[in-house]
Amino acid sequence: MGEKDNFFLLGADEFKSRLASAGFEKYRAAQVFDAVYKNKIFAPLEIPAIPQKLREWLLENFQFCAAEMVGKKQSGDETKKYLFELNDGNFVECVLLKAPTDDGGIRKTLCMSTQVGCACACKFCASALRGFVRNLTSAEIISQALPFIEETTAGGKKSRKFEFENIVVMGMGEPLINYQNLMPALSVFNSAEKFAFGARRITVSTCGIADKLEKLSEDGFPYRLAISLHGATDEVRGQIMPINSRFPLTRLLAAAEKFSKNCGRMITLEYILIENVNDSFEQARELAKIARRLHAHINLIPYNKVPALPWRRSDAGRRAAFAKILDGAGVSYTLRREKGSEIDAACGQLALKKSLGPQ
Ligand code: SAH
Repeated sequence: MGEKDNFFLLGADEFKSRLASAGFEKYRAAQVFDAVYKNKIFAPLEIPAIPQKLREWLLENFQFCAAEMVGKKQSGDETKKYLFELNDGNFVECVLLKAPTDDGGIRKTLCMSTQVGCACACKFCASALRGFVRNLTSAEIISQALPFIEETTAGGKKSRKFEFENIVVMGMGEPLINYQNLMPALSVFNSAEKFAFGARRITVSTCGIADKLEKLSEDGFPYRLAISLHGATDEVRGQIMPINSRFPLTRLLAAAEKFSKNCGRMITLEYILIENVNDSFEQARELAKIARRLHAHINLIPYNKVPALPWRRSDAGRRAAFAKILDGAGVSYTLRREKGSEIDAACGQLALKKSLGPQ
């Protein structure tokens, strides 16, 4: 299985020539691409209207799924978490979040992992607890999305589509450390000839790997960027995020400024409120200054409890008072409510484990 090329990573032209050299008509390429990318059929033997020989050739020569889904967990109708087993026996989790939008709709977002474990060691985060194991391959990153399919029947016609319309790379791992595998995976979702998710529907979140961030604008990185700030001064940020000693705020913010200027896209600053750690009014004022400088949007997030860790979330009153300071400073922010914490599917709760725990 490891020997086969991953289907999703092949371009349309490349696939066409592979088909031709195997003796199939070139027009079959479009049929297969339509079945996979439009109709979300990821099992070659189920692709309709192509010869059985072609189905078998696809099955023999290409890998479609590089991670087996081995567990499911759901909390109400809001959050769904799938557990995947990788070929080497490691596990990763991927989460689907449904949240109401301001205009009365529902936003369905898939939260993907990029590494097994994480090396960044943020002190409040469950993913950091067992350290770093390895990068996910591009194929493994893509595979996490594949089971999140819904089947609908309209006018007697069945169709299959992804259950999500946005992707956030905010699961386990630090995406910019696995940049080389992440980018080809995201292109599969973004590319017009493949899943065709607009770049604005894809957000990559980083804890602040400033040297990689400096490269993003040079590389023409098309996606949205979120930075996990969680502290508005080096003193406070350095206490909870070891990455801050390698890339202190001066360097990180300069890189962020360059990104938003060169790419013309607004950055989101993620800020989890942890009681008596980063929720002082002084931090709120400093945070507002940073947001103004970067023209960034702030996402204030309640801290999700990690059982093995001592941190607690700031209470609702404190969160509101903190937000009021941002409001007064005229910066744009969202006071986020939590999602998925009952099934350990919320931010920072994805851990390196091989079962989803009791239902
Ligand atoms: N490594 C990347 C992406 C993974 S973490 C990053 O740091 O951005 C996704 C988000 O969840 C980050 O903002 C992270 O700081 C946050 N997070 C980690 N632990 C959390 C917790 N227990 N409660 C709430 N958010 C948490």
